[in-house]
Amino acid sequence: MTKFRAKLTFILILLIGCSMLIAGVFMAKVLEDSHIEALQDNMERELKVILATGEWNRVGTDSELITYYTIQAKRIKASTEARLTFIRADGRVLGDSDQNPEQMDNHLNRPEIAAAASSGVGYTTRYSDTLKEKMLYAAIPVKIGEQTTGFLRIAMSLSQVDQSIRSLWYFLITGLAILFIIAGIVSYRIAKGITRPIEKMTRVAKQITNMNYKSRVPSYSNDEVGQLGQAINHMSESLQQQMERIQENERRLQGVMENMVSGIMMIDREERIMLLNPSAEYILGFSAQELLGKKYNEAKQQYEFTKLIQECIETREPIRDEMIFYYPAERILEINLNPIAHEDEEWSGVLIVLHDITAVRRLERMRSEFVANVSHELKTPIAAVKGFAETLLAGALNDKETAVSFLQIIFDESERLNRLIGDILELSKIESKRIPMQFSPVYLPEFLEKSLSVLRKEAEKKHIELSMHVDDDIYIEADEDRLRQILINLLSNGISYTQDGGKVRVRVEPLDMNADGDYERLRIIVSDTGIGIPKKDLPRIFERFYRVDKARSRSSGGTGLGLSIVKHLVELHKGTIRVDSEVGMGTKFTIELPVIH
Ligand code: ADP
Repeated sequence: MTKFRAKLTFILILLIGCSMLIAGVFMAKVLEDSHIEALQDNMERELKVILATGEWNRVGTDSELITYYTIQAKRIKASTEARLTFIRADGRVLGDSDQNPEQMDNHLNRPEIAAAASSGVGYTTRYSDTLKEKMLYAAIPVKIGEQTTGFLRIAMSLSQVDQSIRSLWYFLITGLAILFIIAGIVSYRIAKGITRPIEKMTRVAKQITNMNYKSRVPSYSNDEVGQLGQAINHMSESLQQQMERIQENERRLQGVMENMVSGIMMIDREERIMLLNPSAEYILGFSAQELLGKKYNEAKQQYEFTKLIQECIETREPIRDEMIFYYPAERILEINLNPIAHEDEEWSGVLIVLHDITAVRRLERMRSEFVANVSHELKTPIAAVKGFAETLLAGALNDKETAVSFLQIIFDESERLNRLIGDILELSKIESKRIPMQFSPVYLPEFLEKSLSVLRKEAEKKHIELSMHVDDDIYIEADEDRLRQILINLLSNGISYTQDGGKVRVRVEPLDMNADGDYERLRIIVSDTGIGIPKKDLPRIFERFYRVDKARSRSSGGTGLGLSIVKHLVELHKGTIRVDSEVGMGTKFTIELPVIH
């Protein structure tokens, strides 16, 4: 039971008890009074009967009279059971049913006698010294004509009255006790009725404090308490909605943070790291666990980076910088630092955004290197053309034989230049993905036959055996022109880098074949028995302009772009290419392509 309920019950019991007590006292008083009044009436009537039926004006000596009146009084007492006293007009007691009149003092001053003398009847309630109990006295005058000759007084013990008042009290107390218990139960129930909803509301409020927003107060009534309950429910509902909205926002923000490519790091007013998204963890090579809560200058970060944060904190200005990081791997990072300012406060931290621009910078470097390479590659044939043309102009034209050989060189070099420019254009087209792929089913046996026939003449010149091995029913979905470009590039390399009498082969194998003879991938292998590629050069041969042996490549008319074009075309087909080679034994290019696009 709660304090409030106990208090309420106590107050209710007190109220009910007090009102019952007051009512009881009042009732007892009224009862006593009416009892006494009835008794007085009775006594007056009795006195009048006694007065009327007896002889109260006798004449004689005092002792005669005393004897007479005493006998009278005793006789009457025998039938009325009430003490009777006869008092002469001067106050002397002449007869008494219970006492010897000789020993009794003058009664003229007794209040009942005085009242009887003045108003015809007198009553008193008093404690009788003679009888040692509370008595009710009633007196009337005895008259002859207008002359008062004496007084008749009757006295009754009030013990009976007291007795009935006592039993009244007894009933009252018993009733009161029962009523008290009932009042207690009723009070408790009433208090419970009032406090239960309040207790429930308190519970709900506590649950809300503990973030249980689903808790509701059951509806009780439409009174103030009920309305309070409804208000609490509304509050709880609104809190729940707001919390859900906040959580939803938080989830969204979390999602953004977690899926962002850029690294995000936040430093609060106390210069502690308070936020680190997964990208930032990855870029910086530290887990959030290691860094969160640490001061930015205590986290083991690159010195320049720490300096940059410090600068931003000191100047409160946005800073942008690029920096090379060496841990966990060498990277170029773009760092953006922004002081965070809220409306109400001037400054609350620094937001750091990290971009890994290593790839961008590498690409830029490659581009500029490519331009340098292209210029260099173009310069050589142009220098040759220019040089031989100059020599011819200077007079070599007169020597016909030399002139023809020079012109042949000029022709070859311009051819080379043409090829080079063609390859460069092709490569840039493929790289920029300007031309969309045109996939169509390609029947490989026929396709290979055609591709080989293009190179057959060249192979025959070097007595190289050109052969193919492919099953009858092999199809692939591919961009036919580009697939041909791949094959011709590889085969012509094979022919170029193989000595006279060697062999160049193409072989096609279906991969991941199932029971029905369907296959998901194809492997195309172009192998030769040529000079091979040294191990150290293998990782680089797909780079632009990379050649193992410049002189040799030149003599074979190579541009150094063939393999990088092949690699790009294979990737456009979502395939892979790899090379295996051994110097002096031969080279093997393996391409794997998906069959369906
Ligand atoms: P190139 O026009 O010089 O042939 P590629 O890009 O086609 O340029 O090839 C790059 C280099 O790889 C060649 O210069 C050559 O050194 C080497 N190479 C390519 N194919 C073969 C092969 N089948 N056998 C030996 N070396 C090869």
